[in-house]
Amino acid sequence: MRLSKVLRAGAVVAAASLALAACGGGSDGDSGAAEPSVNQEAEFEAGTTMAQLNEAGTVTVGTKFDQPLFGLKGLDGEMEGFDVEIAKIIAGKLGISPDQITWEETPSATREEVIEQGKVDFVVATYTMNEERAQRVSFAGPYYQAGQDLMVKKDNTEITGPDSLKQTNARVCSVTGSTPSEEILKYVDKEQLVLFDVYSKCADALRNNQVDAVTTDNVILLGLVEESGGDFKLVDKPFTEEPYGIGIKKGDTKFCEFIHDTLREAAQSGDYEEAWKNTAGKVSENTPELPELGTCA
Ligand code: GLU
Repeated sequence: MRLSKVLRAGAVVAAASLALAACGGGSDGDSGAAEPSVNQEAEFEAGTTMAQLNEAGTVTVGTKFDQPLFGLKGLDGEMEGFDVEIAKIIAGKLGISPDQITWEETPSATREEVIEQGKVDFVVATYTMNEERAQRVSFAGPYYQAGQDLMVKKDNTEITGPDSLKQTNARVCSVTGSTPSEEILKYVDKEQLVLFDVYSKCADALRNNQVDAVTTDNVILLGLVEESGGDFKLVDKPFTEEPYGIGIKKGDTKFCEFIHDTLREAAQSGDYEEAWKNTAGKVSENTPELPELGTCA
């Protein structure tokens, strides 16, 4: 299957663990993201999603609102994060400026549904491409490769990886409809797992000692660690591959190919790297390269 090929290709980079950049600071209130260029001359084949969005001059994007570094809505209403920047790059190629993007919060369990129902035009939301989801939506990408990891309180020395969760009888928090919430059941009993709809609630539960660990992708946890001001730490032993895709309506091959061209151009022009450096790159030491893209179907 085509998707399996993508997953295998991505596996090479997946194991790379994340390290916190030594810089510490970085919270100068400046999201720092340079505005991506808007393609004023964009012209598209009639009847395509691209033509329709270009004509409308607006686009609705599904993303997360509570995930620092990837998708975060600030108190001022401004959106920031790597997913947000990727979405702006795609919108720009469609001739749509960032202020014409409507951001729709899409918690993990709602992503397929909002695409199917046409409530959003595409989803960029730490969204792992997999066979099960590909039954309902199509994916462009991957544009990033993450890996599932664990986050614990800073002074926790007992939880050292997924294999230590059973013997310590740890309560582990994750999110409904996410791949980590399913994968973790290989390591813990159902009774040990606590599920919320969004990861910020897991972070609150960890702070209040209602759970002992939070599990999801390393880059999401990294954002929550950064936000905790030193209270939390990443276990930093990723144990899955999570290739992030852009979710679109099932079978919209032309839109998928357009997104692939856009991603390749962004990688070549340096916009992809810039998007990373202005967001997750402020905390993560590793600057990713655009992974090998899959086949649109
Ligand atoms: N990437 C995983 C997923 O799509 C976890 C992150 C998330 O829930 O958004 O399920």
